[in-house]
Amino acid sequence: MEQEQTIVGLRVDVDTYRGAREGVPRLLDALDKYQIEASFFFSVGPDNNGRRFWRLWDPTYLSQFVRTSFAGVEHHFKGAFWRGPVIGWRAADIIQKTDQSGHEVGLHAWDHHKWTTKSSQMSVLELRTELEKGYQLLSQILGREVTCSAAAGWRSSQPSLAEKEAFPFRYNSDCKGSSIFVPDSGAVPQIPVTLPTYEELIYTRGVNRKNYNEVIFSKIKPAQLNVYNIHAEIEGQGQFRLFRQWLEMAHERQVKIVPLGQLLPDHTQFRHDTIVNIAPDNANEWQSYQASQVSK
Ligand SMILES: [Zn+2]
Repeated sequence: MEQEQTIVGLRVDVDTYRGAREGVPRLLDALDKYQIEASFFFSVGPDNNGRRFWRLWDPTYLSQFVRTSFAGVEHHFKGAFWRGPVIGWRAADIIQKTDQSGHEVGLHAWDHHKWTTKSSQMSVLELRTELEKGYQLLSQILGREVTCSAAAGWRSSQPSLAEKEAFPFRYNSDCKGSSIFVPDSGAVPQIPVTLPTYEELIYTRGVNRKNYNEVIFSKIKPAQLNVYNIHAEIEGQGQFRLFRQWLEMAHERQVKIVPLGQLLPDHTQFRHDTIVNIAPDNANEWQSYQASQVSK
């Protein structure tokens, strides 16, 4: 009997200038070795993530910082005293190289730090401005439309989703979940991240660097949506060896790795339909959506 192939969508978030400059080229080389294409979501505005420095006073953040040495101390200082570099201007060559290497390139944020800390209090106009600035610069760098996005820090809300509808995104990846669905308020499908990230999983319930990849693979199954989210600042920098090992294991196990866009069952049918009767929390939302398409 033929076994169903296991497919994993690979999403790479690039939050910082340093992640773009140092982490992305390494990841591109590693993916190229296995001829794998993935989805890269770039933050393109000012790198103000250094303001995280102030959050070191927060004990939960401090423990996370100590555990992961997230992008180093320098990263934490940058932006605490001055405005960080505009990533899209300084790393346009890297973004273009990612695109030319066949990867899917989408928008992560304009100002990653601002989006993760303030987007829930932003007015509609502020949300639109953040999205517009990021979209314009990224599309200028790519020389064409940007066709997908993934909200920084999974921060999304009804107003931010509504604003995203104005952009030519084929899909968004703004949440965690278990299946592709179309949110109630719009027409653009969501491809959720289904697997835990390094920061979430490491040093919890006996997980360490030795068994980390094994634990991730134990959660990957053939008959379900599998989306793995890595960071240029983690798997492309401090945990690069761990990620290379993950790629090797995927290769040995014949797990097929694809960009998120390839997980959409049909690339063309979404934009022009008005979606109704689809509850985001319904486990069968995707099936209902497909059923509604068939019965039209
Ligand atoms: Zn991010």
